[in-house]
Amino acid sequence: MSAITGANSVGSPLVLEIKGNALDDGPGIRTVVFLKGCPLSCTWCHNPESKRVHMELSFDPAKCIGCGECHAVCESGALTAGLQPGPDRELCSRCMACTEVCPSMALEQVGQEMDAGAVVAKVVKDHPFFEASGGGVTLSGGEPTLKPEYCGNLLRQFKDEGIHTLLETCGHFSWNAFESAILPWVDTVYCDIKLINPDAHKRHCGTTNTRILENLEKLLELSRLGDLDFLPRVPLIPGITATDENICAIGDYLKARGASRVQIMAYNPLWHGKSVKIGCDDLLAKDETMHKFMERDEVSRLTALFEARGLEMV
Ligand code: SF4
Ligand code: SF4
Repeated sequence: MSAITGANSVGSPLVLEIKGNALDDGPGIRTVVFLKGCPLSCTWCHNPESKRVHMELSFDPAKCIGCGECHAVCESGALTAGLQPGPDRELCSRCMACTEVCPSMALEQVGQEMDAGAVVAKVVKDHPFFEASGGGVTLSGGEPTLKPEYCGNLLRQFKDEGIHTLLETCGHFSWNAFESAILPWVDTVYCDIKLINPDAHKRHCGTTNTRILENLEKLLELSRLGDLDFLPRVPLIPGITATDENICAIGDYLKARGASRVQIMAYNPLWHGKSVKIGCDDLLAKDETMHKFMERDEVSRLTALFEARGLEMV
C-alpha cells in the first residue's frame, strides 16, 4: 500500500499518465508525459484530473459491483458498505488502500511518483517509433513548467537520447525559470492562447492573462528569429473562447506580432465524466451546450476568421 498522499517533497510533480502512440500532440508518433498540477483553473479543462498537484482518488460508480472490499480496508470511514455512492472526500486521507483491493477498478489512484530516470526509461523504449515517424516526446499536463527544474531535467535527458522534445504549456510561467531551465532542451513549444479579454480570462481560467500574453510575445519573437519552433493554439470552447469577438481578437493579436500560423483544438465534452469521478465541481454541468461536440460547420466558420487574417491553420 502506498503511504503517499500528495505531491512529493523533493519538488517533482506527480505523473498522471505516460501515453504512447499519440498522434495529436505534435509531429509523428509521440509519447506524451502528462504531469499533475496547473496554475490555471479553466472551467472546461479537458484533463480535470491534472489540475491539482496532489494524488487523487477516482471513483466510477458504473464499475462498482458492491463487493464491500473497499469498505473493509478504509480506516478513515470514508466508504460505506454496498454499492458505493462514492467516497466521502472530506474524510478520505488518500491512503489509496481501497484502490489496491477494488476488483473492478471502480476506485483508482490518480497521479503517481516517478523519478525522472524512470520516466525517461519508459519513454526511451518508444524510440524506434519516433525514428520511423519523425516523432518524439511531448511534455503535457497539467502544466509541466510548474516544476521547471524537473521539466528541464527530463527534457535534457530526452535530448541526450536523441529524442525530439515538445512542450505543451498554458503559458503561465516565470520567463526566467523557463529560459534557463527548459528552453535549452526543448525543440518545439505549443502554447495556448485562450481568451484575449483579461477579465474573461480571470473569470474562466482563475487568473488574468497578463503573464501569458507577455510570455507569448517572447515566444513569438524567438520564433520570428528562427530560434524556436513555436505554435500558438486556441481551444474552442462553446460560448467562452469560441466567440467571433474572441477569435478575431486572438487572430489580430497574433498577426500583429508576426505569427504566421495557429492551431485550433476542437471542443471535446468528455471531460465532464472525468470531473465527476474525482469529485470536482463541474460548474458547466447544467449547460447542455457543453455536453456536445462542436458542429463541424461552426469549427470551419471560426477557422475562416483566422484564415481571413492571413494565418495558416495547422
Ligand atoms: S483512499 Fe480514502 S476512501 Fe480509499 S481507503 Fe484510503 S481513506 Fe478510505
Ligand atoms: S471494492 Fe470496488 S467494486 Fe467493491 S464495493 Fe468498493 S468500489 Fe465497488
